[in-house]
Amino acid sequence: MMAPDESSKPIGYIPIADCEICSALDEVETSFTKYDWDDLDRPLPPAAARLKFFAAFDAYDAERRHIKRCPVCGIFYEYWLTYDYYINGSEDEEELTRLTPAQAKHFMDEATYEALMQQARAGLTDAQPLTRRYAAKCLVSHHMERQEMPLAGEYLAHPDPEVVKGALFFLRKLANDGDRRPEIASIKTAIEALVQHADPDISSGAQSVLHCIKIYEKYR
Ligand SMILES: [Zn+2]
Repeated sequence: MMAPDESSKPIGYIPIADCEICSALDEVETSFTKYDWDDLDRPLPPAAARLKFFAAFDAYDAERRHIKRCPVCGIFYEYWLTYDYYINGSEDEEELTRLTPAQAKHFMDEATYEALMQQARAGLTDAQPLTRRYAAKCLVSHHMERQEMPLAGEYLAHPDPEVVKGALFFLRKLANDGDRRPEIASIKTAIEALVQHADPDISSGAQSVLHCIKIYEKYR
């Protein structure tokens, strides 16, 4: 008889830092493979192979772009494989991006969304910094989906620097991708207040978001 695999166990909705799969993955992971050039290969972390296929996108080949889900804690990821053909060997690149419940909302029912958001709200005061950062990212994303930018901005003024980082780095990713700049510009004051922050990662993160806002304000 085969041992039961992870997919047969119910999802635990545990904090991300307590999940052995998700805690071993960054918010974005990438791989690179060049055919016949093994020394250039940089694979995804081994934990990525334990995520399960969850759903395909209508417009894409399911193998190349799909949603994965962690079988332990229930967090969703987007997987994207691109390949290019070159005369000296084709190149494959993978990108695995951890999603917030709001970003993956189309793929789940209301009860699953509620369970994940409850986990996020509890995670804000968790002992582990990773759980607090991801909790803040999920809550900011939730408020943005609901067009509640002032509520999203409140996490930037949070006394816990890990909460600020989770919120700010999520906004930085969106701003760099070019999405959501009008909304992010609406909480400019909250971002400006972080430029003088004692933590250099927060200070430089705020400057990078402000740079994107400046570009948006110039060309809108
Ligand atoms: Zn997990």
